[in-house]
Amino acid sequence: MSRPPRHLADLDLAARRQAVADLGERPFRADQLSRHYFGRYTDTGQDMTDLPAALRDSLASELLPRLLTEERALVADRGATRKSVWRALDGALVESVLMKYPDRATMCVSSQAGCGMACPFCATGQAGLTRNLSTAEIVAQVVAGERLLAAEGGRVSNIVFMGMGEPLANYKNVLAAVRRLTDPVPSGLGISQRSVTVSTVGLVPAIGKLAAEGLSVTLAVSLHAPDDTARDELVPVNRRWKVAEVLAAAWDYAAATGRRISIEYALIKDVNDQAWRADLLGELLSGHLAHVNLIPLNPTPGSRWTASLPGVQDEFVARIASHGVPVTVRDTRGREIDGACGQLAASVAPEDRPGRRVGAARRALPLV
Ligand code: SAH
Repeated sequence: MSRPPRHLADLDLAARRQAVADLGERPFRADQLSRHYFGRYTDTGQDMTDLPAALRDSLASELLPRLLTEERALVADRGATRKSVWRALDGALVESVLMKYPDRATMCVSSQAGCGMACPFCATGQAGLTRNLSTAEIVAQVVAGERLLAAEGGRVSNIVFMGMGEPLANYKNVLAAVRRLTDPVPSGLGISQRSVTVSTVGLVPAIGKLAAEGLSVTLAVSLHAPDDTARDELVPVNRRWKVAEVLAAAWDYAAATGRRISIEYALIKDVNDQAWRADLLGELLSGHLAHVNLIPLNPTPGSRWTASLPGVQDEFVARIASHGVPVTVRDTRGREIDGACGQLAASVAPEDRPGRRVGAARRALPLV
């Protein structure tokens, strides 16, 4: 486990100017480098023709080291979904997923290599935590997406911290990443704060801290059960912060930011999909600024759990809606490339995973 080298995206603009000055160059060079990285998505010195030729490579290698190398890219949904497996300089593997829609493009980013939250239904949770990602390693995933889309005349419009890791367990780096992603060029990428979603298992003190940051990012809470009995098992951190405390923190967040809370709920057959749980969930959320995002479970290799039956899912939706609570079922992109919710597990090569059903179609997926 090692700390990645310093990168421009770790620093705010003032600190970048100082870093350039410390290298013996004029501070405005930091703005030029920032424009290249955040405005043109390049970290290649030779592309920076507004810098003196002698400085291009040295400044780029000092302040824009290539932190992530794309180990593999897998595409699905006729090219609309692309999962990237990234190798960090210390060998750690992380994944990001770019999803293109007619009206938007969403990047799902990782905040940690692995995850320490140990949710039993989530592939990332099974291998444990390797390390926190640095701010620049998080930002680099989005810059890579911007670079790809820019070639087609597009832009990343939405960011969800729903890749590997628990973002609020890497609070400082994630918060700085949110600022880099949303600050205007040349400070950052200029993506709207309202288009950024931070998803959490429910680390109550960190939710409180986030509420006080003066940001307008969306908070998603991975609830998965309305009662402590089921949630203690599905989201082990619930043994520390109970459903009632997590929801209280969520309502405080909504009050402080005016943002609607997204309640994430993976429907698992016979585990959390009973009608009474839908009613209890509806009662808990009714009258609050919240909507429910149901996710049909993506079964992970070796898991005994499967997705709910369609009729059961429909009933669950109807009961939540009957309490006046908005509810949607998430479209799960990229299932066949293990790019859908809860399937990211880059630390283990697919062919080495136990209990895996590998079909011909899976093998034949294009590697780009
Ligand atoms: N640690 C954060 C963010 C990463 S997970 C969190 O838990 O919110 C992003 C979402 O995918 C979470 O709601 C998570 O519970 C859900 N998820 C994990 N495994 C899943 C699976 N196998 N099927 C469906 N959703 C899953």
